[in-house]
Amino acid sequence: MIPSVLPTYNRADLTFESGEGSWMIEADGRRFLDLGAGIAVNVLGHANPVLVEALTAQANKLWHVSNLYNITQQQALADKLVGASFADTVFFTNSGTECCELAVKMARKYWHDKGQPNRVEIIGFHGAFHGRSSAGIAAAGGEKLTKGFGPLLPGFAHVDWEDLKALEASITENTAAVIVEPVQGEGGIRPMEDADLKALREICDEAGILLIMDEVQCGVGRTGKLFAHEWAGVTPDIMMVAKGIGGGFPLGAVLATEDAASGMVAGTHGSTYGGNPLACAVGGAVMDVVAEDAFLAEVNRKAGLLRQKLEGLVAAHPDVFESVRGSGLMLGLKCAKPACTDVVAAGYDNEVITVPAADNVVRLLPPLNISDDEISEAVDRLEKAATQVASKV
Ligand SMILES: *Cc1c(COP(=O)(O)O)cnc(C)c1O
Repeated sequence: MIPSVLPTYNRADLTFESGEGSWMIEADGRRFLDLGAGIAVNVLGHANPVLVEALTAQANKLWHVSNLYNITQQQALADKLVGASFADTVFFTNSGTECCELAVKMARKYWHDKGQPNRVEIIGFHGAFHGRSSAGIAAAGGEKLTKGFGPLLPGFAHVDWEDLKALEASITENTAAVIVEPVQGEGGIRPMEDADLKALREICDEAGILLIMDEVQCGVGRTGKLFAHEWAGVTPDIMMVAKGIGGGFPLGAVLATEDAASGMVAGTHGSTYGGNPLACAVGGAVMDVVAEDAFLAEVNRKAGLLRQKLEGLVAAHPDVFESVRGSGLMLGLKCAKPACTDVVAAGYDNEVITVPAADNVVRLLPPLNISDDEISEAVDRLEKAATQVASKV
């Protein structure tokens, strides 16, 4: 008999009842160190007092109004995002995959309105993840995401990760845009080299096509810059942001330049919930903390500390781990012989939460405000998990 919850997830047998900062408390009382943060969502940890205050203050005033009216919290958050980024304008969604839907629509409408309606094709990279909607799975293209869901939304092409020669060769007079995650998340924590991201921007400029960046996982301070592309010193035309931006409240945003967004006039797009007062009150509070230089400096310092400790862990367990990779507090442990899922499961036994990714990688995406002591404790627990896994290979 089918469970009452549609069984699309292989769930671990863990039931968390509360959270405090970097900790999650299981129904049986065990305290888990959370290096998953709900997959890069809880950027300020669990039950952060600043976010609880922003949420409850807004909840007592007004939860939801339609986008048929002015929403001051939405306006304030849009102004913050525009002020802190390349973007001139923002549309709010409730999730990452909805950002993909709009990014695709925006790119196609751009060319339609420029009198080149043939330009509909969007080129992405193998190993990508852009969400589970029809545009999201077509944009990513991987068989794991698309099999059985055809006919897929047409107009997508794919090249190997960082194969810029292949990318250049696949640009035609029908190309509208390129879509890239500056750091692939689900694909196994694969950062694109800064030089390659720069070259990608140049290729798009030369061809006169749009560059869409999917920063749903790597954005909002995760890599130690507010947005990951800042490391390479280049900017996109359209950017997808979600996960961390709501700190746990469902919120996403598409940021764009005035030119890229020029086709999206009144009536061309919408969302019932997108950018409602409750979501934007929380998003505003997240931005106020995360966009501060001092906060990002701390993310970078902690990232260095965690990475150094993980290098030690890899060196001590070459039978379990091959290498550490990633950027900032978006780190991956590439597993040697054992399956990453076995390492994640051993983590559960030792009360530390990590997340599996493709390419046999264990993902570490802790709250950005994790403390030094918690980093040490987390790596101690990972050490125990590694020892446990090693004893079984
Ligand atoms: C999670 C993710 C998405 C999809 O976000 P949802 O909120 O699950 O729809 C899209 N792109 C990237 C890079 C992601 O990590």
